[in-house]
Amino acid sequence: MLFAIVLVLIFSGLYFASTKRSTNKTVLDNAASVNDAVLADNIAFFRALDKSEQQRFEKEIIEFLSYVKITGVNTEVTDLDRILVAASAVIPVFAFPEWKYSNLKEVLLYPDTFNNDFKTEGEGRNVLGMVGSGYMEGKMLLSKYALEQGFTNDSDKNNTAIHEFVHLVDKADGDTDGIPKQLLSKQYTIPWLDMTYKLMQEMLKGKSDINPYGTTNQAEFFAVVSEYFFERPDLLQQKHPELYQLLHEIFKQDPKVQL
Ligand SMILES: [Zn+2]
Repeated sequence: MLFAIVLVLIFSGLYFASTKRSTNKTVLDNAASVNDAVLADNIAFFRALDKSEQQRFEKEIIEFLSYVKITGVNTEVTDLDRILVAASAVIPVFAFPEWKYSNLKEVLLYPDTFNNDFKTEGEGRNVLGMVGSGYMEGKMLLSKYALEQGFTNDSDKNNTAIHEFVHLVDKADGDTDGIPKQLLSKQYTIPWLDMTYKLMQEMLKGKSDINPYGTTNQAEFFAVVSEYFFERPDLLQQKHPELYQLLHEIFKQDPKVQL
């Protein structure tokens, strides 16, 4: 009898040990798949960071992936896709280590364009990414193609995933209105609105190198110039030094590019 009890104890001990091991292994695998080489190969923003910042970037990516689910809709989600989504989330708020996207639970990745139900914005951009509202609250929809393209082409001022995360940063204060109140000190609100108005006028006249989609409204303006800021900071600083300075006040960063 005693022998049987001892056997049961040994086997249940072994069972729990193996369950524990497999849980730990999953965690380790997720962490291991976010390694320096993958980040350096695919993310120009990461390459431009110094060693200690790179380590922090890696940690922030793992942290983001611990609370946001990434689901493929009719498409497979690769480890690289997960990393690129997380990188797009981390980049705009990298100067705010405590930041958490409390308004996001899940990112839905679509192979290319969304179905008609989700075409709510204008001009082609609509089908590449959007932040859900109403019954889609807490979800972001992204085209996998646009996600990958945003990081493959480092010189076109476009990055759809960063654009969508900037909308979430904007939305964090309750209004998606192009004024990210949680990041921008109050004293810069008026200069920021003046800048938005002035540049939107230039864009409407066709006298600007900024993506004209930014004239849709102030929220789109903010998202579009933020893409430019993180993709081509050098060019933005050269062509629009005052805009660059204000975006620096918002994001508290001077992104450098290493193409
Ligand atoms: Zn947008």
